Amino acid sequence: MAKYIFVTGGVTSSLGKGIIAASLAKLLQSRGLQVTIQKFDPYINVDPGTLNPYEHGECYVTDDGAETDLDLGHYERFLNIPTSQANNVTTGRIYQTVINKERAGDYLGKTVQVVPHITDEIKRRMMLLGNSGKFDIVITELGGTVGDIESLPFIEAVRQIQWELPEEDCVIVHLTLIPYLNAAKELKTKPTQHSVRMLSQEGVHPNVIVCRTEHPINEEIKRKIALFCNVKPEAVIEAMDASTIYEVPLKMLEEQLDVTVLKKLHITNYAPPVLDKWNDFLHKLKNPIHTVNIGLIGKYVELQDAYKSILEAFIHSGAVNQCKVNIINVHSEFITADNVNSQLQGLDGLLVAPGFGSRGVDGKIEAVKYARENKLPFFGICLGMQMAVIEFARNVLGFSDAHSTEMNENTSHPVIALMEEQKGITNKGGTMRLGAYDCSIEANSLAEKIYQSNLISERHRHRWEFNNQYLNEFIQSGLLPTGKNNKTGLVEIVELKDHPFFIGVQYHPELKSTVENPHPIFVSFVNAAKDFQLSKKG
Ligand code: GLN
Repeated sequence: MAKYIFVTGGVTSSLGKGIIAASLAKLLQSRGLQVTIQKFDPYINVDPGTLNPYEHGECYVTDDGAETDLDLGHYERFLNIPTSQANNVTTGRIYQTVINKERAGDYLGKTVQVVPHITDEIKRRMMLLGNSGKFDIVITELGGTVGDIESLPFIEAVRQIQWELPEEDCVIVHLTLIPYLNAAKELKTKPTQHSVRMLSQEGVHPNVIVCRTEHPINEEIKRKIALFCNVKPEAVIEAMDASTIYEVPLKMLEEQLDVTVLKKLHITNYAPPVLDKWNDFLHKLKNPIHTVNIGLIGKYVELQDAYKSILEAFIHSGAVNQCKVNIINVHSEFITADNVNSQLQGLDGLLVAPGFGSRGVDGKIEAVKYARENKLPFFGICLGMQMAVIEFARNVLGFSDAHSTEMNENTSHPVIALMEEQKGITNKGGTMRLGAYDCSIEANSLAEKIYQSNLISERHRHRWEFNNQYLNEFIQSGLLPTGKNNKTGLVEIVELKDHPFFIGVQYHPELKSTVENPHPIFVSFVNAAKDFQLSKKG
């Protein structure tokens, strides 16, 4: 039987519930328990797949092809185990299920209501992973902030679960903010008191209060919070700002968040935490020997969350190389043939980011050309790979209007195109290639050297594909398809002959990079950037 931990948030959003949940999970895992984390989001979208990155940051894709909240990326990066569709549920999905059942007549003429029908469906999904028999502990992060209208059904479901389960099978962790008033030189506990009271009015009583703060919380403040929030002082946990999110598990270990939770769950047979790999990573991260400058060419660069997994993958791969990776954000919309040299000079590597639509595409093509001609290490992801193909077609093969039919349906050289079977499907998302696909890698290629393997599996999220009608022309001129899907023949990896490091991938390697398994392409790319820098210095 699994036990359940619920993580709620109070006072304000952006407190880092996902990181606290992932850190607690990491500690429990490091003590030998099987743990998973799931996120329940209060919005009406069935999944974040249709959300603009400006709205919701990156859309994280799982092996089973679910388009999910970016917090699932943190869960995977911390725990080093894959998540799935079951790990992310939205209000939209809950309602969709209930409404489908209602249309099918499953409620036998009853009035369908928020309580019990919606809350029952929430509860069923909250217990789903726990009932799989695979986990000792399931952590559920509730999106939104206590007091939001839209979170109410989730809170009500948690209330019922807390009431239904034996006391020792359920813990509520409430994450809150303790603001510091500079004028008064004081930390203030009132907002926390209010948010806990609000939660209590809804019938949910937190067992542990985790306090985000910019200043240390002394014993007196802990006692005050404990008294007003009806928990023991040792259940008030300080969560000071950390220099990196990867330090948070260690801070939580010091504060004994894991032990406090385990005590409440009556789990006694746990081992001392094994965090050797984690500590080794942190040590390398904090003590870099080199620094490289990598240009990130994208159209959402002003919004850090839009490229979350890419940025984290650089942190993992930088640490392996004992190298600080400075990300230089370059807005693709502002790169032109005239300014490309001045915009990109001084970089040690160039990553052209994924994306949809035509905005900023010309700048991306200019950036690829610069990397190809200047032998600058290049890494193109998804749209970035497609741009590399288009650039090569235009400037090497001489097809001056070559394009993807996503941007120009009438191009005379559709080197990136929709496959026949995709045409005619209009439902957004309906034609998207999503989730894990196998890819065979050619012998003696850069890809083989990077992966040390000839068969890999990577995650996809795109519609358009390399157009195989042009395969021979590309091969003859030196852009080689070194990774292919065996079943469909679709090109998944291209690399440039006679270039120290030039690789484009149709999939999203960033989604599989974790602290304990940094992604090999990112690791090799950072290494190539280091070499490039050295060669410049001569
Ligand atoms: N827009 C491109 C496609 O749909 C690339 C998508 C992406 O970069 N994720 O194929």
